[in-house]
Amino acid sequence: MKVDRPVRVRFAPSPTGPLHIGGVRSALYNFLFARKHGGTFILRIEDTDQLRYVTGSEPYIHEALNWLGLIPDEGPKAGGAFGPYRQSERQALYTRWIDRLIDSGHAYLAFDTPEELEQMRSEELAKGVAAPSYDHTVRMRMKNSLAQPNDVIESWKAEGRPYVVRLKIEPEQEIVIHDIIRGEVTFRSEILDDKVLMKADGLPTYHLANVVDDYHMQITHVIRGEEWLSSTAHHVLLYRAFDWEDEMPRFAHLPLILKPSGKGKLSKRDSTKSGIPVFPLDWNDEEEGVHYAGFREKGFLPHATLNFLAFLGWNPGTEQEIFSMEELLEAFDLEQVVKSGARFDYDKALWFNQQYIMHSEATDLLPGVKHQVAHQFPDRVPDDEHLLAFIDLMKERVHTIKDFCSEGSYFFQAPGQYEENTLRKKWNAENRSFFSNVLNLVSDGMGAAEWSATIKDAMQAQNRKPGEIFSVLRIAMTGSMTGPDLFALMAWLGKREAQHRIENLLNHLA
Ligand code: GLU
Repeated sequence: MKVDRPVRVRFAPSPTGPLHIGGVRSALYNFLFARKHGGTFILRIEDTDQLRYVTGSEPYIHEALNWLGLIPDEGPKAGGAFGPYRQSERQALYTRWIDRLIDSGHAYLAFDTPEELEQMRSEELAKGVAAPSYDHTVRMRMKNSLAQPNDVIESWKAEGRPYVVRLKIEPEQEIVIHDIIRGEVTFRSEILDDKVLMKADGLPTYHLANVVDDYHMQITHVIRGEEWLSSTAHHVLLYRAFDWEDEMPRFAHLPLILKPSGKGKLSKRDSTKSGIPVFPLDWNDEEEGVHYAGFREKGFLPHATLNFLAFLGWNPGTEQEIFSMEELLEAFDLEQVVKSGARFDYDKALWFNQQYIMHSEATDLLPGVKHQVAHQFPDRVPDDEHLLAFIDLMKERVHTIKDFCSEGSYFFQAPGQYEENTLRKKWNAENRSFFSNVLNLVSDGMGAAEWSATIKDAMQAQNRKPGEIFSVLRIAMTGSMTGPDLFALMAWLGKREAQHRIENLLNHLA
């Protein structure tokens, strides 16, 4: 590769469904690499496979990248000098280059029917070939433009027989890939099949479109998942066939993302089985009739999600785990990405989110929390000032934005039940009148400190045991012994609501 080209990287998802979290990690690493090197981050939609196309997946990709702040410098939305950025709009280019490959003898037309292909396979299996493929060992007995005379091929074409175009792979070539993460990876061309480059519908396959586009878009580094490593051998041969080897990008294949157990690849089934999100945003799979929860809807903050994803395959080699975007850009290095699979540890994701929530300003959390409150308690949404105070009281006690409402439901509704064991232990009937009257001393203008001082003074004056009073008050307010500072909570609820909850409890105990 020419060394002094400006860095240009691309994230090239196929719109075949929601963006898997592994795809988002690829997008992030590409983004970080581009930013770190003052380069360009490109989004290219690889939508040549009509059969696997799923409506809604391209908008999903844009929305997910947007949510995470991984905004492409060039792409279908951003535009750019190397567009169009959807492969379905670049057909003329692929046709031009496929013709060039046919003319130069690197590709050929193949008319074999599915039955003929199947027959070849069974013959090969019968001969003891373990994994038969369409390659140099069989191609000369097949229905293709290498094996058949020209006039036959022309007549088949004239008849309109369907054909594909295949890459002609010569045996005895060595393909050495200097992968930035994996080091030297060597393939022998004998084991490679004559890949289809153009399908019978005239559309290119992934391999052709991907290489032609990387070349035309002047991509310098291909950073993608490990599952594409074996295709890279074909891609290198395509670069050779086109005589583009000088322009070939460098490759970096990212490790697989493993299930939380560490055994096997993370899949969407892990989401349905255990409720962990494996997609950035919610996704309704209409065909399967399954709803998949996304990180966003589960209550993750975008930056916490990115921080978690950054560590799926990379670590800075220090103890530091929380990284601002600037720090990530500084520390991130493709060479420190590991080869072995990265375990998807959902508890770790929750931990990152908790850290980010805890250290966020309440005002930054306000829109998300307000949305949740409006959803969970539509007729009890307090004003922003109250919401901000609520956030400050709860932000150290939650892992997700959703937890604000589930963990802090008692801010919006009186507890439906009480932790009976503790209540019975702490309840002393002699305190009944103290509880009935104690709030006469407070008023709504008072802050938490004044509520606390007033109630404590009364407690002392009347010789009440703090252990009994505090526990019962707390259970009256929240139903249990958990929750934020008791007096702050009571002041937040206000005199009327706090009084009402005390009465509820006293009735319960009557
Ligand atoms: N379209 C491929 C995908 O969906 C792109 C792989 C690559 O980055 O080359 O992942």
